[in-house]
Amino acid sequence: MANTEGVLIHPAVDNGIKQGSPDFSGGVLSCHCTDNPVKIRVGAQTAHNHVCGCTKCWKPEGAIFSQVAVVSRDAVEVLENGDKLEIVDTQAPIQRYRCRDCGVHMYGRIENQGHPFYGLDFVHTELSKEQGWSAPEFAAFVSSVIESGVDPSRMDGIRGRLRELGLHPYDTLSPPLMDAIATHVAKQSASAPAAASQNASSAPQQESATPPPPPPAGQGESLFGRLLSRLFGGGQR
Ligand SMILES: [Zn+2]
Ligand SMILES: [Zn+2]
Repeated sequence: MANTEGVLIHPAVDNGIKQGSPDFSGGVLSCHCTDNPVKIRVGAQTAHNHVCGCTKCWKPEGAIFSQVAVVSRDAVEVLENGDKLEIVDTQAPIQRYRCRDCGVHMYGRIENQGHPFYGLDFVHTELSKEQGWSAPEFAAFVSSVIESGVDPSRMDGIRGRLRELGLHPYDTLSPPLMDAIATHVAKQSASAPAAASQNASSAPQQESATPPPPPPAGQGESLFGRLLSRLFGGGQR
């Protein structure tokens, strides 16, 4: 057994997981500014709450994981000081809106309607005083904490601690979310074979005359790894 003593994951889970309330219907998230904090209303219970080890999600000071959940974008409304919000990276698949003064991410939004998670915003419910938000259920992108500076020798202890907390450690996302992505991709590519064979019949000689293209860069990565990179940016979220 790995030694999990003193392993800190995130303040919201380090002292045990707080269960959500079934009848909870949302609350207000505030950034960390003392003056004129950005406030947003999340008018619904969140889903798929989890801790995330990727290098993109906002983490509180000193934490090696973020805690992040999804909610319908229709339920998210900026209440106060929205003029302080800026997009961290406009090129990223998830546009994360942060307070330009304190740096806290208030919500992440997907504008690409073809994205498997289009319609869902990413939020950090620890920014709310209300109790009853959905509890974290798993840990995502665990190996990515190495990219943010965690020594690889600590990974056994970190995974052990996550298991102790009941947060199964995944190096991508949880099976239900991976299945949602794969289902979306399968539906999108359902029409692709027809299009491909049309191309082939219009240029029948080309395929045999041309050597196969070189494998794409980064072929050591799994196909799914590259897909995740395209969906979330940088191989992570
Ligand atoms: Zn702020
Ligand atoms: Zn993340």
